[in-house]
Amino acid sequence: MNFDYDLFVVGGGSGGVRAARVAATEVGAKVGLAEEDRYGGTCVIRGCVPKKLMVYASDFSRQLEDSVAFGWIVKHDGFDWQKFRRKLHLELDRLEAVYRSLLNNAGVETYDHRAKLLDSNTVKVGEKTFTARTILIATGGRPFRPNIPGIENALVSDDIFNMEKLPKSMAIIGGGYIACEMASIMNGLGVETKLIYRGDQILRGFDKEVRDHVAAEMVKNGVSICLNTDVTEINVTEAGLELTKSNGKKENFDKVLAATGRTPNSNDLGLDSSDIKIGKTGEILVDKYSKSSNGSVYAIGDVTNRSNLTPIAIREATSFIDTVFRDNPSRLDYRFIPTAVFTAPEVGTVGLTEEEASELGPLEIYSTKFKSMREGFAGREDRVFMKLIVEQKNQKVLGCHFVSPIAGELVQLAAVAVTMGATKLDFDRTIAVHPTISEELVTMRKPTRRT
Ligand code: NDP
Repeated sequence: MNFDYDLFVVGGGSGGVRAARVAATEVGAKVGLAEEDRYGGTCVIRGCVPKKLMVYASDFSRQLEDSVAFGWIVKHDGFDWQKFRRKLHLELDRLEAVYRSLLNNAGVETYDHRAKLLDSNTVKVGEKTFTARTILIATGGRPFRPNIPGIENALVSDDIFNMEKLPKSMAIIGGGYIACEMASIMNGLGVETKLIYRGDQILRGFDKEVRDHVAAEMVKNGVSICLNTDVTEINVTEAGLELTKSNGKKENFDKVLAATGRTPNSNDLGLDSSDIKIGKTGEILVDKYSKSSNGSVYAIGDVTNRSNLTPIAIREATSFIDTVFRDNPSRLDYRFIPTAVFTAPEVGTVGLTEEEASELGPLEIYSTKFKSMREGFAGREDRVFMKLIVEQKNQKVLGCHFVSPIAGELVQLAAVAVTMGATKLDFDRTIAVHPTISEELVTMRKPTRRT
């Protein structure tokens, strides 16, 4: 049968764009792609990129303070949100244009419309209908608002980058990546920030000691963290937003941000009437090769709710191309996914937490807590935390965790060693780079404890 396209991609985010480009340029496929919103998806337009630029912006408040301790004479008049926002959006426009031109230069035919599946090999795009040998769904996710009376008055992460002005105060509901990052950003920009989380410590799923340490450091830096607390109601008042907590107490904030997770974008894609199976949270169920329950439809990225990170969507895209277009079935190893939380200080982590590793058998834990040279000189009380989790029987490093400035940068390099299966001896025989924060990683000689 002749198809209009070898591959039709639904969604122009990180995963979809990568799959379309590689298919068009490296395997010579005829590719179409539909995106109803802006090219670049969550990461580029309303996630990682604008967030990281805000992290940089917010960090200057600290650097300005510290510069005085280093002898600088600094005069400044605060932070101009409108100026930053204008520049931010110009940068996002530039990046979107880059994404569009990458697709055009690759020969991918793009459609600025919503696409819907009509059957296993047919998509409706605006008023047009196309057939494709393979369809790839890469539609990402969207913020989830919990069922709290008045939650419509809360912002979600998408809204942050469009705020007209910076609020004086903000309550952030949630304790995951977005809640913690936004709490540090807002605090750094001078917003009185309170994070309200239902659990007993932020960043569930991370190493327990890492969670405790980063929470304490965030508090030291000025974020207020309220644990074991639900928000039961949000009311609009003259003073802003009145938030009722599960202990019955009420508090007022200028803005409330619901950072309470994300939902896969699988609705209204024509999947209801198809044989494509959907999971409990709306995720498209796929096998290890990203194939859905329909043999010609694949899905990658956040819409599959496996590991909702940009680099994972990109790797899933290349594995999909290898499997479907290069006759080389290829799947991702989800065991060693390095990740960073861009709080102040940052968290960087790869491999297992102590809690996960303890299931495998006896461990040696190496950890250190210290004041870095820079922070000490600046008169700050901040402490770096580092931890290596080593399997006793073979001395393999199972996990490596940092809470420190630039932990995201540090963990990328440590991840190479951990992914290669490095042992503690490999770390020990690595010569330190002095004076750095990360040299401590190769100078921890005695285990803090054995489990
Ligand atoms: P997360 O899953 O990380 O966190 C969601 C938070 O919301 C959790 O603390 C959760 O609590 C809480 N929550 C969920 N439902 C409710 C509810 N009904 N009432 C109150 N609290 C609730 O999601 P995020 O939205 O922060 O981020 C989405 C994903 O995006 C992340 O998981 C990550 O994969 C990715 N991301 C990655 C970043 C990075 O790499 N730096 C940055 C930002 C996002 P509980 O823990 O109790 O379930």
